[in-house]
Amino acid sequence: MKPQKPLWFILVLFFVVPSVKGPSFSAGTWRSAYVEATRAHFGTIAAAPLPADSLFSRERHVIKLAEGVYEIRHEDPFPGWVHGNTTVIIGTKEVFVVDSCQLSTSARGDIAQIRQWTSKPVRYLLNTHWHLDHTGGNKDYMDEYPSLTIIAHTETRKMMDATSMSLPSLMLKEATATQARLQKNIETGKSPDGKPLTERDKAETVQKLALIGAIIDQAKGFAYRGPTLIFDRELIVDLGNREVHIKHLGRGNTAGDAFVYLPKEKILITGDLLDHPVPYAFDGYPSEWIQTLERMAQLDAETIVPGHGEVLHDKTFLYQVIDLMKSVVAQVNKQLNLNYEATLDEVKKSLDVKSFRQAIAGDDKANAGFFDNSIGSSFVELAYYEAKQR
Ligand SMILES: [Zn+2]
Repeated sequence: MKPQKPLWFILVLFFVVPSVKGPSFSAGTWRSAYVEATRAHFGTIAAAPLPADSLFSRERHVIKLAEGVYEIRHEDPFPGWVHGNTTVIIGTKEVFVVDSCQLSTSARGDIAQIRQWTSKPVRYLLNTHWHLDHTGGNKDYMDEYPSLTIIAHTETRKMMDATSMSLPSLMLKEATATQARLQKNIETGKSPDGKPLTERDKAETVQKLALIGAIIDQAKGFAYRGPTLIFDRELIVDLGNREVHIKHLGRGNTAGDAFVYLPKEKILITGDLLDHPVPYAFDGYPSEWIQTLERMAQLDAETIVPGHGEVLHDKTFLYQVIDLMKSVVAQVNKQLNLNYEATLDEVKKSLDVKSFRQAIAGDDKANAGFFDNSIGSSFVELAYYEAKQR
């Protein structure tokens, strides 16, 4: 039986920088027929260099994707404690927002920015999935726009309803532990590994303490605002001269992944079905995830806003992630076909994703470490138990 991952495991992703070392990789390469087929259509895929991107964003920035369509990447409070991207779509009558990020302070900054762009009301907020880094600001939008409709997939609402009670206490627990650690650093003048703090380290720690205070306040004042409109396959909203297509093309990162497609503008807003620079694969349904991404890739899109990370201007990375996931699932199945009794550890050790790791994470240590955790450990585990259940 697949061990059920507790809620804290999923949520802790947003609080803690994974520091566990990934498995070692054996030599050899694997290429799916799919890579070759897509290459024929789109040129070189898996080996194409990717734009530099980081898991952690040090500053907030806004990108105009089309007239009246903006992507906001937030300043992440701490490495590992991150916000999902927010996308704002403005029609002639009303405004649609994709994901409300994690912290109230950031969501309120987004709302202030939206008010500068337009006096039209935010009428719709889509939660692409239930994770807190995409839903934490729901209350702020609801407070500001009382006629707001919060949209989500049926399964997403179920998860949000089920986890809403435990969220504030989890958030508070993680935040107070971080606060205590930071305060200790200031008091002792040393980092946890015993190294003396430089003046810059001290200033950064003071800054982080202020941020953690805001997180603690949010946890204490948390009020759940769940979805008020649910859908199963597709929902089309007309904002006034602008159609927003909300789709669920199958399970992936969660059971209720929703994404947005703007057909006229050829923009895809993917939620965590696709994250840049490294996929977040700590939960999900590996084989179905691949199919969902393949269906998504059929849509005519020139701009892709991932759930995290920089805006992408072609489908290179999308195909790269499909190839990577296919490779892992195929390798895991192959090992289990050879020996059904193979342990998870043995399967992990046999995995070879070196070429993907190099193409996706390059020489960036943080990205490579995250890749090892997300793909080399977690995604393999998901694929292992999925294969075992067959
Ligand atoms: Zn996320």
